[in-house]
Amino acid sequence: MEILQKVKDLDDVLVGYRFVCPGCAEAAKTNKRLIPVHYITVARMARFPESEGRPIWEFNGNEEKPTFTPSIKCEIDYFDHLHVCHSYVTDGQIQFLHDCTHPLKGQTVPLPEYDIKEWKKANQKD
Ligand SMILES: [Zn+2]
Repeated sequence: MEILQKVKDLDDVLVGYRFVCPGCAEAAKTNKRLIPVHYITVARMARFPESEGRPIWEFNGNEEKPTFTPSIKCEIDYFDHLHVCHSYVTDGQIQFLHDCTHPLKGQTVPLPEYDIKEWKKANQKD
């Protein structure tokens, strides 16, 4: 069980983390297309220095009580509606800002521990 899932590049260098977002998880109960996982890049992939136009976040190095700066914003246009998730992750807590479109907007909750295999099994999309 862990909060963060490490993401490594082809050279086995740590380049980012994934975590399950409790706000997006709430939204995913009604939007089956939504995968409630955020990916935070903490380093460029050496073999793909231009990889993505993604920002690099500052990380406090604490995998149990992570802090990422700046804020994390995810917007997905589903044509019939726009999904927005905007948060600060500080000391293992996720603070959802008021521009979120999911039920946890304005709230601060702990990042959940999860077992990625169990989570995949429980969230099989059909
Ligand atoms: Zn989210």
